[in-house]
Amino acid sequence: MTGRSFVIAIDGPAAAGKGTLARRLADHFGYALLDTGLLYRAVGRRVLDRGGNPSDPLAAGAAARALRPENLDDPRLRLDEAAGAASKVAAIPEVRAALLDFQRGFAAHPPDGKRGAVLDGRDIGTHVCPNADAKIFVTASVEVRAERRVKELRERGLDVIPSAVLQDMKERDARDSSRSIAPLVAAADAFVLDTSSLDADGVFAAALQYVALRNPTGA
Ligand code: C5P
Repeated sequence: MTGRSFVIAIDGPAAAGKGTLARRLADHFGYALLDTGLLYRAVGRRVLDRGGNPSDPLAAGAAARALRPENLDDPRLRLDEAAGAASKVAAIPEVRAALLDFQRGFAAHPPDGKRGAVLDGRDIGTHVCPNADAKIFVTASVEVRAERRVKELRERGLDVIPSAVLQDMKERDARDSSRSIAPLVAAADAFVLDTSSLDADGVFAAALQYVALRNPTGA
């Protein structure tokens, strides 16, 4: 890659539509994509697989330092068990520190010579890439997000109890928003996009309009 990488930071709570938007923006601009939640999920999963407690800083810190790219391919990372463990390890400073360099390196030097990177997570615009060229905070009401998650899990053939999904989501939101390190919060200069009454195309169109203003050449 020549020149500086164009960085798009996408943050927001679970099931707000970040992942779909991040993928569509990355495809549209030909940028590299990093789902940073997957890093935390892989750390949480690794601790669980070793019989440890995801809230234990020693176990979680060691798992974060031992993380390898191939650990990100585990299909179990998509399940709510990994998500719950992720939000516990994510509150531990050693874990966040261990994952920071990887994320920043990806943003500054996207793989495959790509000219830009899209990172989605909780703290990309506030901590990982505070100088990102475009920052979008994607949000929606917790009820709408829980409904989307139920639909997604059912489409994957899983048996789900909607009230339990809603409860899990509320607990995860509370943990992510109240932790002292890198809490889930919109960056002061982020474009806040409420997706409660938008479909994926509507979300993409609104985001594209905002990014195009920050990236007039599409480069
Ligand atoms: O986005 P996803 O649902 O995969 O994230 C799982 C968990 O990982 C989140 O609930 C959050 O606790 C944590 N996370 C984080 N910072 C990020 C991405 C994810 O703390 N940048």
